[in-house]
Amino acid sequence: MIKAIITDIEGTTTDIDFVHKVLFPYSRRKMHAFLNEHQHSPEVAQEIKQAQQLMQNQTASLDAVCEQLIAWIDSDQKIGPLKTLQGFIWAEGFAKGEYQGHVYQDAYDHLQKWHQAGLKLYVYSSGSVQAQRLLFQYSAFGDMRPLFQGYFDTQVGGKKESASYATILKAIQFKPEETLFLSDVVAELDAAKENGMHTALLNRNKAALPKHYHIETSSFGGILAHFERN
Ligand SMILES: [Mg+2]
Repeated sequence: MIKAIITDIEGTTTDIDFVHKVLFPYSRRKMHAFLNEHQHSPEVAQEIKQAQQLMQNQTASLDAVCEQLIAWIDSDQKIGPLKTLQGFIWAEGFAKGEYQGHVYQDAYDHLQKWHQAGLKLYVYSSGSVQAQRLLFQYSAFGDMRPLFQGYFDTQVGGKKESASYATILKAIQFKPEETLFLSDVVAELDAAKENGMHTALLNRNKAALPKHYHIETSSFGGILAHFERN
């Protein structure tokens, strides 16, 4: 019986376009002004310093750091200081109401229903835990954070690595067969399944996919019914 559900965000609860067409361009647009305004606050200064270290140029100017950060955004690189700074910029954008976190209606409905039914819900996404919380705090459905017991990001390891799921299982203290992992990426589901977890593939666009060994669905509806039947 499923007692805990761990969900991915991008492509699963949330339209991939929200991240790539709303959040990333926003951080790109605001990076320069943000660094200028907050360069002396200790949290920001620390990230600037880390970026300079990665650039192997401890005296790089603020403009040069900004250019490097934007180059990392453009090449979709997950670099520590970039992710942290983006988190700060997104937090401002969410708080100002510049955008709301996108969540599919069916995902919201079912997360709510599962939570009410006593299932424990967790998030595992490559976005930082800070960014995950923001997206759900400022979702179009209001603050969804009360639905979740915990959040995991790549601090536990990469999403295609089997060991990451072992770490999550240990942290949440459920048996693998009591858990279900939801994702839109087969390689991530394969890694979860290697640990004995149940898996379901969200194929939002009903794309033709190579053969795989996961339950496949285009929405959250009916996922759990599948386990009750079997
Ligand atoms: Mg995904």
